[in-house]
Amino acid sequence: MAEKSTRTARGTIICDNTTMALLKANDYVAEAIRREMDRRGVLLINLTSSPGSGKTTLLQETGKRLKDVLRIKVLVGDLETERDAERLREAGIQAWQIVTGGICHLEGQMIMQALENISLDDTDVLIIENVGNLVCPASFDLGEDYRVTLLASTEGDDKPKKYPRMFFTSDLMLISKSDLLPHLPFSVDRAIQDARDINPDIECMTVSALTGEGMDAWCRWLVDRFEQKRRSKKPEESYDVE
Ligand code: MG
Ligand code: ZN
Repeated sequence: MAEKSTRTARGTIICDNTTMALLKANDYVAEAIRREMDRRGVLLINLTSSPGSGKTTLLQETGKRLKDVLRIKVLVGDLETERDAERLREAGIQAWQIVTGGICHLEGQMIMQALENISLDDTDVLIIENVGNLVCPASFDLGEDYRVTLLASTEGDDKPKKYPRMFFTSDLMLISKSDLLPHLPFSVDRAIQDARDINPDIECMTVSALTGEGMDAWCRWLVDRFEQKRRSKKPEESYDVE
């Protein structure tokens, strides 16, 4: 029976197979994705949250509002079913589903494989809707420019301190389902304070995809980040010979 190799790979570069951590391997793939997106000037967003915080609903509404402004595509991850991609397509958004078959987060290599099916030439913004989970998706860099985390008013304002890694690694926290705030003991100030205790740089907004509250600010944020990205696009390498 073949045994798992415990030998060290040798050559100019010496790789220790046994101690090559999964996350380290993921970081290499994430970096390759980031370089490709930088070269193309495509803005890559990693959208994370608990299950049921309204990621898909937010994206449906975002896609409708920005359909004449940005060419947005969505790559959505779930343990099972194609439902979210179907919901996004119904809203007129080009969407692809990664069914992880039980894996509770997306990894760089999944994104890399999915990218083979997506034309990036006519893409301004690619949004990855991650698997609903505030725990391990925090540890997997997907090569994104920005990580955006939704915290729904229905989840309670104590989540930033309970799941600090996710909020520590996020650039923007969107407090979603703000239309329900009048009915809930959720303090927006406390949630923001706790998130900023963990990550002083995190931006915070309050949104409701249902009533439209905060949607202009969120869409503006997305457009601004895209324009920034295009401005900083790495020039194509020139092969001119002197
Ligand atoms: Mg969803
Ligand atoms: Zn996981």
